[in-house]
Amino acid sequence: MNTLLANAVAAIRLGVEDFQSTDNARLISAVRNITAGVLLLFKEKLRQMSPSHSGEVLLKERLRPAISKTGQITFVGIGRKTVNVQQIEERFKSLDVYVDWKRVYQLIQLRNDLEHYYTMASFAAVQGAIADAFVVLQSFVTVELNVEPLDLLGESTWHALLAQSHVFEVQRAACRSELDKIDWPNAVYADVVAEIRCVRCHSELVKPVDVDVEDILSLDFQCTSCGEISQFDDTVGDAIAAAFAGETHIAMTDDGDPPIVSCHGCGQYAFHLKNVVCLLCRATLGYTECAVCGDALGPEDQDNRGLCGYHKWQADKDD
Ligand SMILES: [Zn+2]
Ligand SMILES: [Zn+2]
Ligand SMILES: [Zn+2]
Repeated sequence: MNTLLANAVAAIRLGVEDFQSTDNARLISAVRNITAGVLLLFKEKLRQMSPSHSGEVLLKERLRPAISKTGQITFVGIGRKTVNVQQIEERFKSLDVYVDWKRVYQLIQLRNDLEHYYTMASFAAVQGAIADAFVVLQSFVTVELNVEPLDLLGESTWHALLAQSHVFEVQRAACRSELDKIDWPNAVYADVVAEIRCVRCHSELVKPVDVDVEDILSLDFQCTSCGEISQFDDTVGDAIAAAFAGETHIAMTDDGDPPIVSCHGCGQYAFHLKNVVCLLCRATLGYTECAVCGDALGPEDQDNRGLCGYHKWQADKDD
């Protein structure tokens, strides 16, 4: 077996062993090892796809053009540094290699969060990461590496992954069906609900305490993994930030309108511009256009007595 591939398999196997150990401190190590293993498998694919005598060009962070003996221009890899995650994603996309990137980034996110913010990993959060890794591995190993996961990873590792992910998926589905019973007032909440996590342990296994509430703002949520009960503002507030992070980033780089802005009612970044409503406090716009020039008004203009910023300034000056 190639070294890269062997290292990938060893990392995944170690991660599964970490997870199976009764020592809770090894949960962080489980996530770190499994994430490393998945990324190494991706690199192995790039190595396999690199043309021979190209210095493993697709695997290397830096490449330079060269002229072959027959006078053709080619690219060769230089240096020892290999591609980072973003480069792997870019190269896979242009080479038509399919990966469930949403799950991979969820895995990486958990690894980073555990290293920086959470001192103790929750069992369920790690189980969720394993379930994500399982889905990614199943398709990638079979389709892109062209081997059976069972053969590559060995029976005990693959069966442990399979069993853990099954247990977790059953619980995730149960929580999701409880969340779906909530009478969400707007379709935009679908994206938000998908990002609901425990505010304490980051587990996805969160469900509403009681769905029969008069107003969704009084919903409480309970984590079935660590037991934490949290209120609507905290749970949904975090989910809103996660749900619109990608769109916000694109808007920032393209100089466009962000999907959510600061709300005049609650002060949180939760006012959805397209739906003209705050997803947290349900505030809408009292004034929609300037009484003088007719310009559209947003949440930031609501304290201007129905005027845009410019005409408010002019009115104040004339007073
Ligand atoms: Zn929790
Ligand atoms: Zn609000
Ligand atoms: Zn105006």
